[in-house]
Amino acid sequence: DHKATIIDGKAVAQTIRSEIASEVRHLSDKYGKVPGLAVIIVGSRKDSQSYVSMKRKACAEVGIKSFDIDLPQQVSEPELISKVHELNAHPDVHGILVQLPLPKHINEEKVLSEISLEKDVDGFHPLNIGKLAMKGREPLFLPCTPKAISHLSCGQGCLELLSRSGISTKGKKAVVVGRSNIVGLPVSLLLLKADATVTIVHSHTDDPESIIREADIIIAAAGQAMMIKGSWIKPGAAVIDVGTNAIDDPSKKSGYRLVGDVDFQEACKVAGWITPVPGGVGPMTVAMLLKNTLDGAKRVIHH
Ligand code: NDP
Repeated sequence: DHKATIIDGKAVAQTIRSEIASEVRHLSDKYGKVPGLAVIIVGSRKDSQSYVSMKRKACAEVGIKSFDIDLPQQVSEPELISKVHELNAHPDVHGILVQLPLPKHINEEKVLSEISLEKDVDGFHPLNIGKLAMKGREPLFLPCTPKAISHLSCGQGCLELLSRSGISTKGKKAVVVGRSNIVGLPVSLLLLKADATVTIVHSHTDDPESIIREADIIIAAAGQAMMIKGSWIKPGAAVIDVGTNAIDDPSKKSGYRLVGDVDFQEACKVAGWITPVPGGVGPMTVAMLLKNTLDGAKRVIHH
């Protein structure tokens, strides 16, 4: 019976977090400087609040100072932007993150483009995304989920775990399911930079199944619970499941559980490698946010 190698994102993330913690200690011992991350949340969406508190807790654990900015749902766009400007100028803040989505009355793109490029630890500034898209250019920061995936899935430098297991992206057929600004699109651009042959599947794609079945590497980021069946997966493929979907589960105290975009049980029988949900891409994404903040701080301190 075939059984895919399960990529333990939680364990890799833990290793990265302890490396970050020791670098943070070093910066503080040697230069008396502590990396700082400002996390801005607008309003009280439950999911956003839980992501934000997870990020703030992760900062505290590695010794990064977290600046908590909680703004009311009704905050105006100019008020939010002036907060961003204040943080751009704050010498102890090395990273600024605006939790998305923002309320409808605020122009997300406008707010994101006001974040100083040097502090854009989410990598969502249009200029950073633009550089990611261009050959021979490098963004100052890679968005955290794509960075996490590249750590988990590709070769050389950034591309850690699968490469240790012998997978490289070069020349491989990669299919990315989803094309959002925060996951699908930047992941596709990154895989292209890593010399994969990239196909993007989205909600208007005809016959996604047959396209996905061609893939050596599948990145699932559609937000559709267990949409990708075992029979859609080429034997031996690497499957990176970004999807995080809550489905009803009366056997749980909470009444729900989290599943990915891939049918994990089925996929395990076919895939070569697979990331679980939870415990795969999610914890790595948070680790990459900490890493970006540390890198931002180092850039300033070493100047
Ligand atoms: P969005 O809803 O913004 O984007 C979903 C994308 O998937 C869209 O491009 C959409 O196509 C496409 N899509 C939707 N349904 C289908 C379908 N049936 N077949 C093919 N494509 C489809 O989601 P996000 O990109 O923000 O997030 C994707 C998933 O990843 C979610 O489950 C989210 O919770 C999770 N996530 C996990 C993170 C982590 O750290 N683990 C971080 C961020 C997100 P179209 O463009 O045509 O509408």
